Amino acid sequence: MSLTDYYSKRNFKQTSEPSGEVKQSKKSSGIYVIQKHQATHLHYDLRLEMEGVLKSWAIPKEPPMQPNLKRLAVGTEDHPIEYAKFEGVIPEGGYGAGKVEIWDKGTFIPIELDDTKIIISIKGEKLKGDYCLIKLRPKIDPKNWLFFKKKISK
Ligand code: MN
Repeated sequence: MSLTDYYSKRNFKQTSEPSGEVKQSKKSSGIYVIQKHQATHLHYDLRLEMEGVLKSWAIPKEPPMQPNLKRLAVGTEDHPIEYAKFEGVIPEGGYGAGKVEIWDKGTFIPIELDDTKIIISIKGEKLKGDYCLIKLRPKIDPKNWLFFKKKISK
């Protein structure tokens, strides 16, 4: 995993976002966070600690707390682990300008991980239970995933 895209989009002299680095962890559970991001369009950034970075997806609507609600989740660049704690205002003119606040946080345990499917058990304050991220059409739209809560959680 690499933070090259993350660094290339930002000027750390202007934004208070962390620069950070790749940090591998041996824990069985990982950091889970969703940041509410009031950019040009309000969205929710889902971030999961995997392979030393925060894998990231932008969800255009409020993340689902109940089963039967499927949300589009668009893959975005990996973020450094430190970003899980970031709240603040990204200045005008910078990438993602606007207010960032933590909407939900906690941990997750991976249940099934492959290139097109991620199943995790989330222990957040708002999101709790088993969730799926499924790539919609891996060959055509590799960034587009569906994010939803499983009906029966273990
Ligand atoms: Mn964002």
